Amino acid sequence: MRRKIIAGNWKMNMTPTEAKALATTLAPLVKNPEVDVVYCVPFIDIFPVKEVIAGTAVHLGAENVYFEEKGAFTGETSPAMLKDAGVEYVIIGHSERREYFHETDEIINKKLLKLLEHQFKPILCCGESLAQREAGVTMDFIRMQLKLAFQGVSASDAAKVTIAYEPIWAIGTGKTATVAQAEEVCRGIRETVKELYGEAIAEEIRIQYGGSMNEKNCKELLAEPDIDGGLIGGASLKPEFGHIVNYKA
Ligand code: PEP
Repeated sequence: MRRKIIAGNWKMNMTPTEAKALATTLAPLVKNPEVDVVYCVPFIDIFPVKEVIAGTAVHLGAENVYFEEKGAFTGETSPAMLKDAGVEYVIIGHSERREYFHETDEIINKKLLKLLEHQFKPILCCGESLAQREAGVTMDFIRMQLKLAFQGVSASDAAKVTIAYEPIWAIGTGKTATVAQAEEVCRGIRETVKELYGEAIAEEIRIQYGGSMNEKNCKELLAEPDIDGGLIGGASLKPEFGHIVNYKA
């Protein structure tokens, strides 16, 4: 039985002071022993958030990482830096990073390998554009993204990755994939993992849905057999996140 994982992607929204206040507001609301809860926060918010979630069940996550160990990479943050700061999960391959920061599948693959080498729990995002959905190539595209991302990753490491299916057209738009659309792709992702690593790993790996998930639609989405959690943007910055974590209530 896969344990659900609900992660907030705070994006570039909170100053350290605001981040601390948000984590404090969420503290009494975000409780569900059946779910792994993660806050993925900007680098500069890691320490204030860590202070608030210390001693709680909430896990600390980052929104990005660089794939080199150290050196002349001005502005970048290494895996060792994140490890030392107490980060456990790291989002990679988010469509915003792919689009605005030109991150290629090759870069994402390097990041994935580096995160696994350093024993992080990566959250690997994939997902199609509206044009790709309309052209009927959603699953072909995602299969390709996954094959490229997982190149060189061993089966035992693959199971440590959480895959987030995030249709680009549903991110921050208020437009959610229907439950059937989300489940269909998440099932397709599990099939792809099976092709790559076999049935046992496919059954073990966790697959999230992300894209305008909120307190109204989370229950239905999370009831699907292949949706093991959510990656939440906008709604993770509000008390509503507590409702999503307690989606069964
Ligand atoms: C995201 O960017 O990961 C995301 C799912 O955003 P939102 O929930 O705001 O659509």
